[in-house]
Amino acid sequence: MAKTAEAAEVQNSTGDGTANGTGEQASTYDMVVVGAGFGGLYQVQRAREAGLSVIGFEAGADVGGTWYWNRYPGARCDIPSLLYSYTWSDDLRETWRWSEKYATQPEILDYARHVADRFDLRRHFQFDTRVASAVYDEDKAEWLVETDTGETVRARFCVMATGCLSVPKAPDIEGAASFKGTIYVTGLWPHEKVSFAGQRVAVIGTGSSAIQSLPLIAAEASAVTVFQRTPNYSLPALNREISDEERAVFDAFFPDYKAALKAGASPLPIPPVGYQPTEEELSTSIAKMWNGDGLISLVMIPNLVRDAVTNARAGDYVREQVKAIVKDPEVAEALTPRGFPIGAKRACVDTDYYDTFNQPHVTLVDLRKTPIAAITPTGVRTTVADVEVDAIVYAVGFDAMTGALNRMDIRGRGGRALKEVWSEGPKTYLGVAVAGFPNLFLVTGPGSPSVLTNMMTAIEQHVDWITDAIGYLGARQIGAIEPSGEAQEAWVAHVNEEADKTLFPQAASWYLGANVPGKPRVFMPYVGEGYKIRCDQVAAAGYEGFVLSRRGEAA
Ligand code: FAD
Ligand code: NAP
Repeated sequence: MAKTAEAAEVQNSTGDGTANGTGEQASTYDMVVVGAGFGGLYQVQRAREAGLSVIGFEAGADVGGTWYWNRYPGARCDIPSLLYSYTWSDDLRETWRWSEKYATQPEILDYARHVADRFDLRRHFQFDTRVASAVYDEDKAEWLVETDTGETVRARFCVMATGCLSVPKAPDIEGAASFKGTIYVTGLWPHEKVSFAGQRVAVIGTGSSAIQSLPLIAAEASAVTVFQRTPNYSLPALNREISDEERAVFDAFFPDYKAALKAGASPLPIPPVGYQPTEEELSTSIAKMWNGDGLISLVMIPNLVRDAVTNARAGDYVREQVKAIVKDPEVAEALTPRGFPIGAKRACVDTDYYDTFNQPHVTLVDLRKTPIAAITPTGVRTTVADVEVDAIVYAVGFDAMTGALNRMDIRGRGGRALKEVWSEGPKTYLGVAVAGFPNLFLVTGPGSPSVLTNMMTAIEQHVDWITDAIGYLGARQIGAIEPSGEAQEAWVAHVNEEADKTLFPQAASWYLGANVPGKPRVFMPYVGEGYKIRCDQVAAAGYEGFVLSRRGEAA
């Protein structure tokens, strides 16, 4: 879908087009939103409710974000669907019916489309349009946003809902371009149905995307070779249809769930940090990892990411399961995760992943023993063998959390580029704003809990906070808001301190930027407690730690 007539319709809704730096006419809005995933959709909805004129830009051809791009076989949520849902509309919740415990990608994409239809959100977006730059015009206290189609718009507020996992890593292995077969990247999967029937397929990577897709690829292909650098911890999804009884239980729980979220409390009975379980409680909670509770089972293990002994016990439990499932002891050993704490990389939730390696046409190559030397025109060459394949599936992950932001030329006061300010790692206040970048907001930015939580509720919390902050400015004729340098420094230090109290930094994860060569190693999500309470306190104290200025002049 190209730019829509409807999108053109909403332009200039706050006034005349104003001349931009190039002398061309730029339409002016109250807010620009970048991204039409669940973050961008909700932000547009809230902006509209607040009476703001808003335009959204989305690089893809439709809404859905993650679920628009990641169409690989087996893609599903790893948070139960009933929780991986917006909570902001009772009407939406009461009329949408998830079919399975962990919904498939097509169903989640349908949900995003349904939201867009029901709330008439598409008309505010221009699709197939990538934002190339966003530059703060200090004289006018406005953002000048330019797209890859050459269009420029102006807006007082710019909200980056560009996603934490929206920039797939390039298949940058030596010789990759020489391959003559078909190349797939899980995060850029084709829209048409892909058939692997009768094909020899290489799967590179063993993160969540590979772990979800392998069993389905293996069900079709004549041969699959999995190239594994680091074995992951994966828990069984035990996926199934949601029963009417479960729906009723969830409906009854929903008011408490929502109230807990509003209060910034955990909606689940998560053991508090430091809780000392009895031996029985601990072993029961560890065994629940195999009961299909997935990632929820991990947060229910007391101090899992804070106590090395507990963590080792939980890790041992997974190691025993792998040994029990995988029949070939050598393959089982190669698949066994070791050397980093369970939970310190996002654990995977799978359907038949380990069991797939019991099939005779599925082979595991342990890259720690025999690394990839190059991709060749006919397949993958390791240090000991050439594996000839018809297709390569790259499931090699994302330039996470900062990737989408650093790919744009975002410039704040004095023309300072965000990527320069972040050259040693991202710096934000509360993960939602950056000093020197007035009226720029990040949805689930680095320095907020984001990817360590249910992203749906993290998105809602941020969008609500951003919209409330804008309302506060509007009510007081305040032109601009941005963090003070001191508040930001203190927050960054706090984010690091909290991470250092945990086992997270012990894994070479994408949380740390360790999966992208040359990326600064900084633990990006906020792992401390009481995040929403802190955000609400900041707001209640008149946006403590932020500098509020009349027209966005330098503070
Ligand atoms: P996204 O959905 O990533 O949307 C961002 C959008 O911004 C994209 O469509 C992108 O094209 C667009 N964009 C980026 N840059 C630009 C630009 N410069 N110009 C224009 N458009 C731009 N989280 C969970 O909590 N539970 C899960 O089960 C779960 N499963 C996941 C499965 C996969 C395969 C992946 C990759 C992630 C998963 N996540 C999950 C995380 C997921 O990203 C979030 O849950 C959520 O979908 C993020 O929504 P978002 O709107 O913030 O970002
Ligand atoms: P990932 O977790 O980063 O996994 C990438 C895999 O590719 C890793 O095994 C990595 O090995 C490997 N790899 C990277 N570069 C390689 C190279 N050059 N040669 C060989 N192997 C290489 O990425 P992902 O699987 O796409 O998942 C990313 C995140 O998205 C997840 O953690 C999760 O948050 C989300 N996600 C969720 C689901 C879900 O279940 N709902 C599904 C998919 C994704 P190393 O570990 O050694 O670096």
